[in-house]
Amino acid sequence: MENDTIAAVSTPAGEGAIAIVRLSGDEAVSITNQLFTSKDLRHVDSHTIHYGKLMDPKTEEKVEEVMVSIMKAPKTFTREDIIEINCHGGMVSVNRVLQLVLREGARLAEPGEFTKRAFLNGRIDLSQAEAVMDLIRSKTDRAMSVALKQMDGRLSNLIRDLRQQLIETVAHVEVNIDYPEYDDVEEMTHDLLEERTRYVKSEVQSLLLTAKQGKILREGIATAIIGKPNVGKSSLMNILAHENKAIVTDIPGTTRDVIEEYVNVRGVPLRLIDTAGIRETEDIVEKIGVERSRQALQDADLILLVLNGNEPLSEEDAALFEAAKDLDIIVTVNKTDLDQKIDMNEVSQAANGAPVITTSLIEEQGIDELEQAIADTFFDGELDHGDLTYVSNVRHIQLLEQADDALNDALNSMEMGMPLDLVQIDITRSWELLGEIIGEDVHESLIDQLFSQFCLGK
Ligand code: GDP
Ligand code: ZN
Repeated sequence: MENDTIAAVSTPAGEGAIAIVRLSGDEAVSITNQLFTSKDLRHVDSHTIHYGKLMDPKTEEKVEEVMVSIMKAPKTFTREDIIEINCHGGMVSVNRVLQLVLREGARLAEPGEFTKRAFLNGRIDLSQAEAVMDLIRSKTDRAMSVALKQMDGRLSNLIRDLRQQLIETVAHVEVNIDYPEYDDVEEMTHDLLEERTRYVKSEVQSLLLTAKQGKILREGIATAIIGKPNVGKSSLMNILAHENKAIVTDIPGTTRDVIEEYVNVRGVPLRLIDTAGIRETEDIVEKIGVERSRQALQDADLILLVLNGNEPLSEEDAALFEAAKDLDIIVTVNKTDLDQKIDMNEVSQAANGAPVITTSLIEEQGIDELEQAIADTFFDGELDHGDLTYVSNVRHIQLLEQADDALNDALNSMEMGMPLDLVQIDITRSWELLGEIIGEDVHESLIDQLFSQFCLGK
């Protein structure tokens, strides 16, 4: 059934005290009204909120005090009638409310079904729908704002504009094929075609360039804190995590034996990788030592190499410098509150141009400088443009790469003097590929697959 009424709990488990049961569909209001005792909800205005009590009509038992939001079609997320029942009683009572609305005739929503309806009813396009999914998954503030912008339709608008450019060139080619006797048209068409194709290709490529940044934004910069035992790695991790409130600490799917901590250092999302599950037992760290650090290097985008200023530089330190030499690295000489036995000239030589910061983590000295160095490494005044359109979705990246290939083929054919109708085939292909990003011309199966990835209740 296309328009049956669906329901789900739409607040993630454990997040805050308020949980919401959301309904969407023709019967959303009447189903809720059968439970709501304080008012006749069928006659209230759209986009209003009503305080009252829910009662189980079977037992006439009061279930819950709630706030009911009514949003009537079409000005809603799904373009259907939507009801949101705000429960204050935590997960137990929210589940009870859900049971009741299901008993009164709603159907439990499939994962992503609310968003799917929004898409199918033309409320949002596919890239916006995916942005909703990214939003649910985004682990950092910045990734969140990228997702919000995409939801807002920035990427869609850009893609639409590029497709428009392509379709216009195709129209010109058509004219040219229909009226081959006009030489002027032929020449004009060729120039226009090449110019537009190059333009679209360059735009596609700049979108692809943002993809790496997008990944970083979404997943955080993989940051490994390495160093010999006892230099202050755990202390550094704790301070960074403490000062920069971790936005999410419990990420599903990261249950490896490394502890990861998401922190936001001056707008740079870091995924701090604790190299040896330090929390569990300090002994393990000592055993695994440098070897373990070396492993963490492989996956890292950024290395924080910690040295102990209270000791001379050792061979182990040199080995770590060597292992990290091709990566973005920031050197921290720690324990400045103690006697300094390290030779700073040796350190800066080993650092080979990488920033060297001195800290006393125990006295919380030098942390500002370290955070600034982290921010400088990644922003370079570049990543920080808030209004950039980022591409961060794997499906989008693949489609953009294919579109780029097709545009390349078109340009090559032009250079080789191939007939325009052949060039047109490649242009049309890139137009279709770009269309898939925003969900124009996609097959039902793709849509189903995409929406099934959503969390329940979205
Ligand atoms: P890790 O083995 O590299 O993780 O080092 P830890 O962070 O566990 O620190 C080892 C020891 O050094 C602990 O006793 C810390 O309190 C101490 N420590 C960490 N930073 C400093 C510092 O800046 N000055 C001094 N004096 N001790 C520190
Ligand atoms: Zn430690």
